[in-house]
Amino acid sequence: MYWEKEIETMSREKLEELQLSRLKESLKRASRSFFYDKSFKETGFNPDKVSSLKDIENIPFTTKDDLREHWPYGFLAVSKDELVRMHSSSGTTGRATVIFHTANDINEWTNLVARSMYMTGMRKSDVFQNMMTYGLFTGGLGFHYGAEKIGALTIPAGAGNSKRQIQLMQDFGTTVIHIIPSYALHLIVVFEKVRVDPRKDIDLRIAFLGAEPHSEKTRQKIEELYGVKAFNSYGLSEMNGPGVAFECQFQDGLHIWEDNFFVEIIDPDTLKPVPDGEEGELVMTTLLRQGMPVLRYRTQDLTRIIPGPCPCGRTHRRIERIKGRTDDMMILKGVNIFPLQIEKKLMEIPGVGSNFLIMLEREGFNDDMHIKVEVQKEFFTGDLKQLEKLKRKVVEELKSDILITPKVELVEPNSLPSGEGKAIRVIDNRED
Ligand code: AMP
Ligand code: ZN
Repeated sequence: MYWEKEIETMSREKLEELQLSRLKESLKRASRSFFYDKSFKETGFNPDKVSSLKDIENIPFTTKDDLREHWPYGFLAVSKDELVRMHSSSGTTGRATVIFHTANDINEWTNLVARSMYMTGMRKSDVFQNMMTYGLFTGGLGFHYGAEKIGALTIPAGAGNSKRQIQLMQDFGTTVIHIIPSYALHLIVVFEKVRVDPRKDIDLRIAFLGAEPHSEKTRQKIEELYGVKAFNSYGLSEMNGPGVAFECQFQDGLHIWEDNFFVEIIDPDTLKPVPDGEEGELVMTTLLRQGMPVLRYRTQDLTRIIPGPCPCGRTHRRIERIKGRTDDMMILKGVNIFPLQIEKKLMEIPGVGSNFLIMLEREGFNDDMHIKVEVQKEFFTGDLKQLEKLKRKVVEELKSDILITPKVELVEPNSLPSGEGKAIRVIDNRED
């Protein structure tokens, strides 16, 4: 059994008491890091003066840029000897942020994931196939540890290799999968090709959908196509990864584990917290992390707290599925990509002009990135070979950076729309 009843159904009053005592400890630990020591001194914030949860509003925010600027070790609150694991955000090497964990951090994280999975109905008797990338990305190992903690037979399938995924499901009687929603849709096409019906030929009953935004409609589609109950799993590497917020059997919002994280929703313009029910940017503070405490982290994810209690009896508040982002980060096939990365890479390639346009498309069940790239005039003089060579180079260079193979079209100079205002770099045509 992996139901932490006392913690999960604790009264709000008790939960807030617990949060306050954990917050005080967390601040003490944080002030041992180079970054927070400096930040507390610069802003005059005194962690010893925190006497209520409201005081958290005096702590300066932490952003992804702070993490990047103090890469790699500026946030460490313990000596390197205490660390056992490193992870990073999905996406590329250049812009990735890294997070370090002590053995205890891994334990706490594992508990959260196990608790989340158990909440949906997964049990020791299940066979769990984890179809997420193992490695620096948190979705692989994070879920793996959680599933083993529950005691389920765990198949570390990793991402990709669709035919083998289906074979594994058939051969070993997989009942629970963890999968990126866009990949779940793509995999259906492969199921059809190999003439396997996931509803009839496989014993699946639960799917965990995570790592990228998806709509209620996509969830329903996956539930129908696979014959499962699908649960939304939200997390981010800065707050461990998976196991931050997860749907219970009522599938109406994601319980966010408030014994581990202090949660605020702020107005991204005024930076002031908004009341429950109002939409804004999710901000989180780690309450138990030892290796690398992160305070008031601006996730850039837009959501709201769903007011009122959940029929499941858990008292940890629920967030609504993520509505969007406050920045221009795109997520394609679970990989985080910033338009700026693409711009930087393109501008390094001789022959590329000054404008480009990214279009995200859903073709059938497949998500793709199409990029129109303006090239210099000389390339349109009739030498098709030269143009083809440049195109290949663009594809290769981008692939090495964003880890996804885009469909590239080279176009003439000044043929893409360019206004006086902010350039439109991305058009997202993925609709449900
Ligand atoms: P990473 O740090 O690479 O794990 O990426 C974390 C980001 O992925 C989050 O800040 C969200 O923008 C996005 N994300 C993860 N899970 C979900 C989800 N279930 N729904 C929407 N967005 C998600
Ligand atoms: Zn619930």
